[in-house]
Amino acid sequence: MHFPAEARIDLAAIRHNVALLRERAGGTEMMGAAKADAYGHGLVPTARAVVEGGASRLGTAFVREALELRAGGIDVPVLSWIITPGEPLEEALRQDVELSACEERTLADIAAAARRTGVTAKVHLQADTGMSRGGAPLAAWPGLLAAAARLRAEGVVDVVGLWSHFACADIPGHPSIELQLDCFDGALKQAEQAGLGDSRIIRHMANSAAIVTLPRARYDLVRPGIALYGLSPIPELGDFGLRPAMTLVAQIALAKRVPESSGVSYGHLYTTAKETTLGLVPLGYADGVLRHATNRAEVLAAGRRRTIAGRVCMDQFMIDVGDDPLRAGDEVVLFGPGDRGEPTAQEWADNLGTITHEIVTRIGARVPRIYTQVET
Ligand SMILES: *Cc1c(COP(=O)(O)O)cnc(C)c1O
Repeated sequence: MHFPAEARIDLAAIRHNVALLRERAGGTEMMGAAKADAYGHGLVPTARAVVEGGASRLGTAFVREALELRAGGIDVPVLSWIITPGEPLEEALRQDVELSACEERTLADIAAAARRTGVTAKVHLQADTGMSRGGAPLAAWPGLLAAAARLRAEGVVDVVGLWSHFACADIPGHPSIELQLDCFDGALKQAEQAGLGDSRIIRHMANSAAIVTLPRARYDLVRPGIALYGLSPIPELGDFGLRPAMTLVAQIALAKRVPESSGVSYGHLYTTAKETTLGLVPLGYADGVLRHATNRAEVLAAGRRRTIAGRVCMDQFMIDVGDDPLRAGDEVVLFGPGDRGEPTAQEWADNLGTITHEIVTRIGARVPRIYTQVET
């Protein structure tokens, strides 16, 4: 079905980024974070490229995302880390999805599902080492360990991982980083004392920013997300050799001459300075071109950068190309790796006061993802 815009995903770039990050992490085993539709890149094809590139595991926020990976034929270990009451735990166990637990209630739910299905649950216990998001607070950690050790002795739960997450790894030198690492080391020591210290239990903490800055955070496994997709986890330190995988393009739907002083789009926030050619770009805030990009963000059209002219609408926005030639069907590039002079997702993020994670994950479901460099 025709849609006048697409997100082109360069799977060779993904494989390159995985290999580069593995090297950067000294060969440590890798779990690729594939949540949120693989950061907007399209879950199954992208996750497959992450595995082809060298990740031996995948991680998702929700069980539903892990089940989608299984339905797509991906059979590497997958961990899901946001477990809410009512989660389809039995289905998760039957599909060999590993589950995170940060409180005893979750462990009890998982154990119940394991007893009902007869499948031993593979569980990663999460410690809150200072982010105060997911994870067991320090005071509750020994209780969680003891409960897990009991369920393990019973044979319903296998503890396969111990993990935590950084709050400020993208701010090198932030005092919380070393504190979280020390805290995690303490949590691991307590696990050992609780009988959960065998070497087959994998310990993991590092997101993309930690992989590129903190060798101490490698442990047994690293968990990159944004860097897999070629976007810098710490833009102030450069691109680390990563290659952006997504290029967002649209076809001009309409090009027309308008007179001087024409007010453009809702609210007339842009007015033509002289007689000029306007182009209609058929992507809007419903597709992830944030309304805040009005009169701000740039695109590449008719050989040059153009600032969005006037209000971004739900399905469309306008550009002003002056007297340059522009016709319906011409390609406009919103962002990409930058090779052809187009803006990057990083430039969009900087321009809009956000991070690249939000730029790529917001690309709407109606925009087709088209894969290039598919491994055969
Ligand atoms: C998203 C996420 C990651 C990856 O984070 P990046 O900053 O994108 O590298 C790793 N671990 C967990 C638990 C996450 O939620």
